[in-house]
Amino acid sequence: MLYPWLIPTYNRFKLALRQGRLPSSLILAGQANLGIEELVLGMARMYLCQHKKYEYEELVQDNCKSCLLFNNRDGSHPDIMFLTTAKNSGQDKDFADLANTFENLQADLSDSDEEMKGNIRVESVRSLISWIYEGSVLGNGKVAVVSKGQCLSESSANALLKTFEEPAADTLMIILTEKFEDLPATLLSRAFKMEVLCQDFSQIENFLKTHLKDNYDEKRAKVALVLSKNSPLKALEYLNAGYDEDVMFFLQTLEKELFDKASFCNSLLGLLKKFTPLMQRYILEELLLELIKYKARVAQSELPFLSSLDLKKLATIPSEKLFFAYQELQSMFSYEKGLKVAAPDALLLTWLTSLRN
Ligand SMILES: [Zn+2]
Repeated sequence: MLYPWLIPTYNRFKLALRQGRLPSSLILAGQANLGIEELVLGMARMYLCQHKKYEYEELVQDNCKSCLLFNNRDGSHPDIMFLTTAKNSGQDKDFADLANTFENLQADLSDSDEEMKGNIRVESVRSLISWIYEGSVLGNGKVAVVSKGQCLSESSANALLKTFEEPAADTLMIILTEKFEDLPATLLSRAFKMEVLCQDFSQIENFLKTHLKDNYDEKRAKVALVLSKNSPLKALEYLNAGYDEDVMFFLQTLEKELFDKASFCNSLLGLLKKFTPLMQRYILEELLLELIKYKARVAQSELPFLSSLDLKKLATIPSEKLFFAYQELQSMFSYEKGLKVAAPDALLLTWLTSLRN
């Protein structure tokens, strides 16, 4: 399914291909969890279609050999190759970082928390390059996809650059990345660049309204969108699982018990520990940032986390203390080479207690 926020980029690609002005390398930027894999598969399908179809609906129903291969989501296509990060290859022998199976792209992109710079192996880049210069199996061109360009090391990027400078005939190279600036300028300057944006709130709202299990609630949707960093797909998952309500329950308990009793922090800590370390940090950071904005007179209704809280207690924390607590958070959750280290309970307790002292 081509989600509504993907359609403008699909149409730009279609126009460039139709008019014969699509270069051999394309860099596609977009944040995680926007379903960009659907867009990439749609583009590859269009590029490889033997009947030269362009419209998504027509391609999905087309019966050329190439299009039929795309219909099986667990399947593969001989003229498409995905280069993914190598992290899974050690644990799971079946997972190769260079494969033509559609699932590999999906698996690599959905795993956005653990990416590491330099995690795309240069040997795999070299194998991809030799594959590119082999002929097409179905005779209608080839598509090579690098699923997380932000994880290219310098040597991997340099190896790829060669294909940019001497492109193989009828081959399209697509590099995905979260942000353009994560890629070296040498690659950026030689490729066609497109960006997927998802910022139209009414479009996101419509999507959630159509796909939610329960009734749509704007306040809940806004909290879920903050937690998902504005991904409608992730927000939908959170809303259907009631994850946003767990977060709000934690915040409401914090507001209620902030100055209440000496033991308040232990129950709060229990609630907080239900979330992953990455999310714990993210929730506390967002809370502090919203409180700082509130103190700077941003309306409560504009602040997703605060809009359902009564704020009698949290709003009494002085701004300097909020700034200090924010800095403390950064040092409490440390990152080591892509590994997230959970803050020890004792530190979290001290941090929570310091908010009210
Ligand atoms: Zn076709």
